[in-house]
Amino acid sequence: MRAAVTKEPNVMEMADVPDAREPDPGEALLRTEAVGLCGSDYHFLTGEIVTTTVHGPQFPKIQGHEVSAIIEKLRPDAPSHLQEGQRVAIWPLRGCGECYACSIGRANVCPNFSLIGIHVDGALAQHLTLPVDQLFPVGDLEPAIAAFVEPISIAVHAVNRGRVAEGERVVVLGAGPIGQALSIAARERGAKVLLVDLVASRLELGRLTGADVLDASGVDDVVAEARAWSGGEGPQVVFDAVGVPTVVQQAVDLVVSAGRVVIVGISEHRVELSINTFTAKEIDVLGTSVCDAGAFEEAAAIVGRNADTISKLITRRFPLEQAPQAIAWAMANPQEALKVVVEA
Ligand SMILES: [Zn+2]
Ligand SMILES: [Zn+2]
Repeated sequence: MRAAVTKEPNVMEMADVPDAREPDPGEALLRTEAVGLCGSDYHFLTGEIVTTTVHGPQFPKIQGHEVSAIIEKLRPDAPSHLQEGQRVAIWPLRGCGECYACSIGRANVCPNFSLIGIHVDGALAQHLTLPVDQLFPVGDLEPAIAAFVEPISIAVHAVNRGRVAEGERVVVLGAGPIGQALSIAARERGAKVLLVDLVASRLELGRLTGADVLDASGVDDVVAEARAWSGGEGPQVVFDAVGVPTVVQQAVDLVVSAGRVVIVGISEHRVELSINTFTAKEIDVLGTSVCDAGAFEEAAAIVGRNADTISKLITRRFPLEQAPQAIAWAMANPQEALKVVVEA
């Protein structure tokens, strides 16, 4: 079959590779339809993400973890809600099943979890074979939209971590793909959302998701402006969807006393915070990682209800044969490329 193979850092090439293997009991053979590209794909390609040896060698690897696919072959033991010919979104991870996080149902932070496209081969290929418990039917959603279930699921999990509730004021710092997904997921919970960013085109898309927007490049004091939007005391929940120290500091300053700050942005930076911020305001500062299976199921429903909005977040589509060009274009145009989709 054809696949985009990441052979070493910064080298992704189309190649003929062995066909996906026949499914073992508990598995299914899938035909890839659409794969969304995201920041973690870029970081894997450049070699910034380094996997542990538990999962075998890092390269070569077939990337791609935001996936819509058709079930091509099921075993007789498959659960009854799955059928051959069905379109599914793929929950991309598996926990080790043995650690503390796995034992309390939080395989999404298992230190040895395995993500498709990072630790094991992913979906930038014509076919792949996966366990059936990673497959979530999405009805007749368009494939490129169904591939958005995975990023929305990260937002659903983050919104769960932040306990976002009906009628709350929520500020999302950063209007990239995850910021937009957070806006959609928080609004689904009945919250009112303010999206903050420096890039006008991203704020314009934010308006389409139903958020209020604040152009941080046009104001002296982002914290004061966002607090005024919240009604004076500060929003109940602030999401950092950037991963930059000053933005995390803004989130902690901005949130109301007794509020919640959720860190979604990924980075190796260190951040300096006043210890008194935590004691004086009794805020909850929460981390969030990729989604759990429960969030994935809800995400599939949210994507179904918001398909029109989500279609506007897709910047460009490329065929599988041009997957290397697709990721190169996305990495070269970080502001313009909100979501680039590869279609098999
Ligand atoms: Zn992703
Ligand atoms: Zn585990």
